[in-house]
Amino acid sequence: MTRWLRWMLSLVPRREAAGPRLVVVRHHRIYPDGARPLYRVGVSESVFGAQLDLLVRVGLAPLTVEDGLAWLRGARGGLRVAMSFDDGYADNVRVGLPLLERHRARATFYLTAGLMEERVAPWWDRLAHRVERAGVTTLDWMLEGRHLHAPLGDERSRRAAMVALLPAFRAVPEVQQRRLHELAERLRSQGEPPCELATWDEARALVASAMEVGAHTLSHPHLSRLSPERQEAEIAGSIDRIENRLGTRPRGMAYPGGDYDAASVAACANHGLRYAVTTRRGDVHPGSAPFELPRRALSDGACLDPFGRFSERMTRAEIAGAFDHLRRAAEVAS
Ligand SMILES: [Zn+2]
Repeated sequence: MTRWLRWMLSLVPRREAAGPRLVVVRHHRIYPDGARPLYRVGVSESVFGAQLDLLVRVGLAPLTVEDGLAWLRGARGGLRVAMSFDDGYADNVRVGLPLLERHRARATFYLTAGLMEERVAPWWDRLAHRVERAGVTTLDWMLEGRHLHAPLGDERSRRAAMVALLPAFRAVPEVQQRRLHELAERLRSQGEPPCELATWDEARALVASAMEVGAHTLSHPHLSRLSPERQEAEIAGSIDRIENRLGTRPRGMAYPGGDYDAASVAACANHGLRYAVTTRRGDVHPGSAPFELPRRALSDGACLDPFGRFSERMTRAEIAGAFDHLRRAAEVAS
């Protein structure tokens, strides 16, 4: 959906929804302004700061997800906003935490406990590293019975190659590892990227500042592709590791990539979690299923007007869910 269309629609007055609702904002990384990594999943520092300025000014200083849910249980009406960060990148602590504290705001951080422990970069960073450091100018690869031909000579083509490669890596961990290995050979790229996730010492600062920490599995797999036993090991293992390292037992979880099934829900409930968040779009209501809570992404693109300036009106329209039906229509059509 184009930015112009959303900008025009943000002018349309909205009706307030009946009953209380909690909007859980979904963030990942916080990038320096102007950073254009090959695989970008996150928000820029100035946009994140502007979001906090706006929310505080309209009386919606962000809460942790846990506190937001506690508010919802006793609420008769109104709106609250909770902030959440998936994966546990160090920039969340170095850049996000001071900004949150300056705004007297709070947030929940879902930590990929196994990768943090082993200091291994997540698969998408390892994939981007290979494409970025390719020692060849073209990739020719038979992948899942399909011939993939991708030029790599300039940044634009490397971005296109990354988009073409991503679906093949949404696989079980063994296949993912094998493909990463094979791709490194084909691209003649050397080494592995540094792990940019927070260290446990950095994550301790989150707890010391009264932020919520939640689980995000050990190794960030696509849960629904794993057996119930392996899902259980990933989920329970990450809860235990976080408790062991940070002295606080998570009560919430974010499913990696928003991917989950009935076994994931059962594992969360069996290991004492109270809730889990997904990547489905929507608001949380008193009747929402506790282990399938929706969230709302609030990326740069969602908050910038057609001239590239931070737009309070568009940001508020995103939080209100003003574009939901249009996005749904676009998804059905594509
Ligand atoms: Zn994640």
